[in-house]
Amino acid sequence: MTNVTRLSLAEEVGFEPTVPVDTAVFETARFGRSRTPPLRSLPLWSPTNFGRGAVSYDFCVMGDDERFMREALVEASRAKAHDDVPIGCVIVADGVVVGSGENRREFDHDPTAHAEIVALREAARQRGHWRLDDVTVYVTLEPCAMCAGALLNARVARLVIGALDEKAGAVGSRYNLLSDPRLLHEVSLTYDVLADESATLLREFFVERRGE
Ligand code: ZN
Repeated sequence: MTNVTRLSLAEEVGFEPTVPVDTAVFETARFGRSRTPPLRSLPLWSPTNFGRGAVSYDFCVMGDDERFMREALVEASRAKAHDDVPIGCVIVADGVVVGSGENRREFDHDPTAHAEIVALREAARQRGHWRLDDVTVYVTLEPCAMCAGALLNARVARLVIGALDEKAGAVGSRYNLLSDPRLLHEVSLTYDVLADESATLLREFFVERRGE
């Protein structure tokens, strides 16, 4: 590909290069591919359309998914008790919980203390190894980019999600870091397990806060 071709490609996609052309095209192409269009495979959560089959997608709940998601919801309630946004996470290997955690960002004054990170640290500590490629992670809200990155780095086998996070979700809503063939690992994904319970917990938390 010559420089001229590259420039015309950049113009076609409406990109106005303010940096050297090669870099400009690279940025455009990279951005274009990294934006996973969630509407093709996932419904976006909203109080009115969620769970009503607005968009078709794979729905595959395995045996104990609801049971472990209930445990993640208990973790989420713990977060609420110390005034953190109620999000919880449970990590399971061979039917046994090996790590769990709730969002502790406010409580610990720690921007990385999301439920998934807290639970991953506990599981890795318990197992004595960072690689968790035989676990299923249950989280009440779709992970953010940081947590999706951590799940990727832990090489987790499977992720089960409660409600979707339309604004910051990085497993289908804004991005999908866990099914991107350019990255080092892909995770088996299940959505919409006790999503209403998870969303209700969040909604109540924010309503109560506004009322204070
Ligand atoms: Zn997070």
